[in-house]
Amino acid sequence: MSDTALYIHIPYCKSKCGYCDFCSSPDASTADAYVTELIRRIKTNREDKTVKSVYFGGGTPTYIGADALCEILQAVKDNYTLSDGCEITAEANPGTVDLHGLETMKKAGFNRLSAGIQTANENELKALGRVSHTVSDGAALVKNARAAGFENVSLDLMYGIPRQTADSLRQSLDFVLSLCPEHISAYALKLEEGTPLYKQNPALPDDDTVADMYALINETLGKSGYHRYEISNFAKPGYESRHNLRYWQGGDYIGLGVSAASLIENVRYLQAPDMKAFLSGKVPDAVEVLDGAGREAEYIMLHLRLAAGVGKKEFRQKFGVDFDEKYAAQIKKYAGHGFAVDDDDRFYLTDRGVFVSNTVIADFI
Ligand code: SF4
Repeated sequence: MSDTALYIHIPYCKSKCGYCDFCSSPDASTADAYVTELIRRIKTNREDKTVKSVYFGGGTPTYIGADALCEILQAVKDNYTLSDGCEITAEANPGTVDLHGLETMKKAGFNRLSAGIQTANENELKALGRVSHTVSDGAALVKNARAAGFENVSLDLMYGIPRQTADSLRQSLDFVLSLCPEHISAYALKLEEGTPLYKQNPALPDDDTVADMYALINETLGKSGYHRYEISNFAKPGYESRHNLRYWQGGDYIGLGVSAASLIENVRYLQAPDMKAFLSGKVPDAVEVLDGAGREAEYIMLHLRLAAGVGKKEFRQKFGVDFDEKYAAQIKKYAGHGFAVDDDDRFYLTDRGVFVSNTVIADFI
């Protein structure tokens, strides 16, 4: 039996952050109907595959309550075969779940928590429009997760925040490290068109400062025992996110929930993008068949973000093309200037190359 991963989208948040363009809303009046519809889809979208990871993302899954999440997880267990040691993650934001809720989730089978901490600076939280929690709420969430028995905790950190400095980033790194997470994701703030923060047009740290911030994160986390396995993701050995690795490695997955995407045998399916259509249960998924060129470009883009890089044998098997031959000019250019390593089996970016990864990737695709 082949395997897959399951993503469940929960599109509700306590409040909408100023920079957020994800599919999420603070209006949870539809949450009960949403859970019912999700469970219906879990029952009807079954595939005869072993599920190696389940990921509740959002939005803020914990905002709809631990009992609702456990009900959904039970439906997953009743309708799919979960592998032994299946990684079951829930995203959580500070101030949306207490110790009792976390204990309930742990008992139901959740074994990984991904918490949106972002910064240890209250002014930076405000600048981001993250008004629903404080820094100490973040610490309390992690403490409660540990008390509930979670042994695999990931924390999100942001950089490039308005008025953020190297010093304040250092303090955020110290704070995050003091919580001893197994995994850390560090993303640069992007001003997405249409968001409140975009409209405010705040002064952001310039590109060089943002690059220095990334270098500081890379160095600090490296020295603290976290290895960078993807451009924005760092883990203690053995704690890489199995679910996200599947996306980055181009594996199949099933996504359920408003606007959730699935990838099944080179076909992408997109569930209804708005709540009313999703709840009606009558709007068919949008379907996109990925052609060879699109798949190849996506493969290169995702794999160059991974520390392991492009595997040449796998590339030939998937696309029937010799990576060394087709991309000889780019390989020579970037390996020759120390931005990448080109060995017999793999082509991957060096630390130096990671800083200019967008340029390198664009050159390949
Ligand atoms: S918590 Fe995350 S999903 Fe929710 S509004 Fe903020 S950034 Fe968006």
